[in-house]
Amino acid sequence: MQTNFTAEQLADPHVAEAESILRKCVHCGFCTATCPTYVTLGNELDSPRGRTYLIKDMLENGRPADEQVVTHIDRCLSCLACTTTCPSGVDYMHLVDHARIHIEKTYRRPLMNRLTRNMLAMVLPYPGRFRLALKLAALGRPFAGLFDQVKALKPMAAMLRLAPSKVPPASDFARPATHAAVSTRRCRVAILTGCAQPVLDPGINEAAISLLTRLGVEVVVPQGEGCCGALVHHMGREEQALDSARRNIDVWTRAVEDGGLDAIIVTTSGCGTTIKDYGHMLRLDPAYAEKAARVSALAKDVTEYLSTLDLPIAETKGLTVAYHSACSLQHGQKVTMAPKLLLKSAGFTVKDPPEGHLCCGSAGTYNIMQPEISARLKARKVRNIESTKPDIISAGNIGCMTQIGSATGIPVVHTVELLNWAYGGPRPKALDRRASV
Ligand code: SF4
Ligand code: SF4
Repeated sequence: MQTNFTAEQLADPHVAEAESILRKCVHCGFCTATCPTYVTLGNELDSPRGRTYLIKDMLENGRPADEQVVTHIDRCLSCLACTTTCPSGVDYMHLVDHARIHIEKTYRRPLMNRLTRNMLAMVLPYPGRFRLALKLAALGRPFAGLFDQVKALKPMAAMLRLAPSKVPPASDFARPATHAAVSTRRCRVAILTGCAQPVLDPGINEAAISLLTRLGVEVVVPQGEGCCGALVHHMGREEQALDSARRNIDVWTRAVEDGGLDAIIVTTSGCGTTIKDYGHMLRLDPAYAEKAARVSALAKDVTEYLSTLDLPIAETKGLTVAYHSACSLQHGQKVTMAPKLLLKSAGFTVKDPPEGHLCCGSAGTYNIMQPEISARLKARKVRNIESTKPDIISAGNIGCMTQIGSATGIPVVHTVELLNWAYGGPRPKALDRRASV
C-alpha cells in the first residue's frame, strides 16, 4: 500500500512502525474470508483490509479519530485470524494496537460507553473487585431484560447474563508460594495467576500446578504479580497496560534472579499473547526493553510447555473431546497442534469443529461491549462444536470457556484439567454437569 506520511510524522517511532506495516498490505483481500466481523456483517469497513484503510487515512492526515473509525475498530475482535491468513505478513495486531491508542487519546466517547469502559478497566483486572462485582451481578441478573430495552445499557445486560450464578471460593493455589516438585526436580517455572481466571475457575491453575509438580517441575507463584494488562491494552489504555507489564516483569525478573526460571507458564491464552508481546510493547523503554524481551521469551502456554516434557501415552478414556482453539492461542501464539496431540496421548478422541478459525465472540470484553455481534458468533461457534457430537469441549482460555459454556449443555473444560485427570489427578468438576461423562 502506498503511503504519504511526512518526515515529521515518521519521526514518531510509533507512526513509523504503523507506516511500515501499512506498506506491506497489497489489497489482495484474502483476509476478508477469515475475518469474523466481515463474515458476519458483510461490510468492507468491518474487514481487516477496510480497517487498514481507515487507520491509514486517520494517521496519514494526522486526524483525531471520528465516529466512523471508532465504530469499525471497536467491532474488531483482535482475534488475529487476519494475521494467519495474510500472505504479505501484515502485522495487523500492532497496527490496530496503535489505532486503539490513537482513538483513546483523541476521541471522546458517548457518556455510557465511557462509563462502562471505565468500570471494566477499574474492576476486571483486580480479583477482589471482580469477585465482589460478580456477586452483585448475580443479584442483578433478573433485571438484564430491562437493561436490554435501552441501547446504551445493552453492555450492562450482557454483563449480567455472563456472570455465573455462583462464584467459587478463592483457591490457596492463587496465593504466593513455591510448590515443590513431587519427584526429583527437573525444572523450575513460575505460573501466572492473573486476574479474572482465578476468580471464575480456580480449578484451572490448581490442575496445572498439580500436574506440573507430579512431572517433576517446581512451580512458583511469585509475590506481587497480577493482571497481565491485556484488557486495558485492548482498550488503548497504553500507560495502564505498560504499568501492569512493568510490575509483572519486575516480579518475574526477581524470580529469575532468586532461583532461575525455565519458563513462565500461562494457562489463559489471551494473557499469554500479551506477555509474549511485552518485549515489543516496551521496546522503546531503555529501563525495561531487555528485561521485557527476556520475560516474553520465557512465556509459554501450559500446553506448549507440557509438550516438551514427554508425557506417556495414557489408557483410552472412551470420550470424545471437541477442541476449541482459542484465537489467542492459534492466531496470536501460533500454538495449534500441541493441545490436540497432548489430549490424544492422554487417551481422548479429539475432534476439530468446522470453522475452527472463527472467533467465538468472547475476545476479552467484546462480549460485553459488542453483545449483538458476539451473540451471533457464539451461536455459530456452538453450532459447529455441537455438530461433532462431543462428550466434552476443551479450550485453553477462560474467556472462550465462559462464552461457549453459556450456550451449551456440554461441559467445557480447560485442556490442562483434562490432562491432569488423565495422568492421575481429580476429575474436573465441570464434568459433573453431564452424568454420561
Ligand atoms: S483481528 Fe479478527 S476481527 Fe479484527 S480485522 Fe482481523 S480477523 Fe477481523
Ligand atoms: S490479506 Fe494481507 S495483504 Fe491482503 S488485503 Fe488483507 S492485510 Fe492486505
